[in-house]
Amino acid sequence: MKILVINAGSSSLKYQLIDMDTNNVMAKGLCERIGIEGSLLTHQAGGEKYPISIEMKDHSDAINAVINALISKEHGVIADMSEISAVGHRVVHGGEEFSGSVIITEAVKNALEACIELAPLHNPPNLTGIAACEKAMPGVPQVAVFDTAFHQSMPASSYLYPLPYEYYEKYKVRRYGFHGTSHKYVTQRAASMLGKKAEELKIITCHLGNGSSITAVNGGKSMDTTMGFTPLAGTLMGTRCGDIDPAIVTYIINKEGKSAEEVDSIMNKKSGIYGVSGVSSDFRDVAAAAADGNKRAEVGLKMFYYEIKKFIGAYAAAMNGVDAIVFTAGIGENDKTLRKEVTSGLSFLGVEIDDEKNSVRGEEIDISASDAKVKTLVIPTNEELMIALDTKEIVENL
Ligand code: ADP
Repeated sequence: MKILVINAGSSSLKYQLIDMDTNNVMAKGLCERIGIEGSLLTHQAGGEKYPISIEMKDHSDAINAVINALISKEHGVIADMSEISAVGHRVVHGGEEFSGSVIITEAVKNALEACIELAPLHNPPNLTGIAACEKAMPGVPQVAVFDTAFHQSMPASSYLYPLPYEYYEKYKVRRYGFHGTSHKYVTQRAASMLGKKAEELKIITCHLGNGSSITAVNGGKSMDTTMGFTPLAGTLMGTRCGDIDPAIVTYIINKEGKSAEEVDSIMNKKSGIYGVSGVSSDFRDVAAAAADGNKRAEVGLKMFYYEIKKFIGAYAAAMNGVDAIVFTAGIGENDKTLRKEVTSGLSFLGVEIDDEKNSVRGEEIDISASDAKVKTLVIPTNEELMIALDTKEIVENL
């Protein structure tokens, strides 16, 4: 079975064609500048990159260009479209409606429309991508896999905010959590690495990338997570502030005469490690600046390590213990200094890492010291494979 995974953004569309017999990526690529002059498809297959300049007025054009690239005589990987058994779509927000992946029906699309208010930047392009695939591949099952679904298992004591209850009832203001596909994937991989069932384990998964979130996964289910009503909450991130005293918002609005929207934009785009360091949103640049003696870069990094450590402590308490801590995503997978700094001082929990193993990059590895009570694992995330696996399970049970 071959499954096409689609991640549609407002002017971009990422794809992977995955062979589900081997879990291998047969081809992948990115459509950029959809609806903008100079649109470009970069197709990758057989270890080669093929930049294809092609006009893509909308997402339908993009999907057609992707299909043509997949079946092309020169750089294609399948003979024709009928080899694609199903399409799995990444959908950012499933609201309270979806606690798992679903086959896309008219009713599902209506429910997704209703979630637009909760993710105005992300859900509309996701829906456009679905419509474009339905048009290009009529009759091929389409599955929606949500960033929020994994966290729907959180109890009300984790997801409610201490605001007037009517805001939850009227506007669904609550913690949703994001990166669910990644937290679910690394949970499954961690269980497999430890030779146990996820149901038997207490795991803290740290997805640390441009956006970061940490999740307490108790018995295979998300019990709490750091992102909230939006992906602005939790630890500081590349440009996002994470958790702050909410009173700062009105204080800055009044002090600087800014609108609520302007402050929202500052908290999303001008804050985080970028805001504190003034250097960059990329943690590698900030680490280089800190090594050169930049004090703001140094304190920004220390803040990040400290916040991650605090959440690990909080979640270990929430679950009455922890069996494994998982590091994943761009920073979690690659930054050995971060892993060392975060785990040092957690020996009271039984966390201890092996410096040599901690230097390995790009593979699943247990970096715990041999006598550590709690396992520390590095697991490269693979959201596309998780989407394909969910899609396969759903279409096989249709
Ligand atoms: P996204 O959330 O966009 O998927 P990624 O998971 O790809 O992001 O993470 C991107 C981030 O990973 C970059 O901003 C960069 O700061 C960080 N990163 C990548 N490699 C390293 C490294 N070797 N050391 C520190 N940070 C790294």
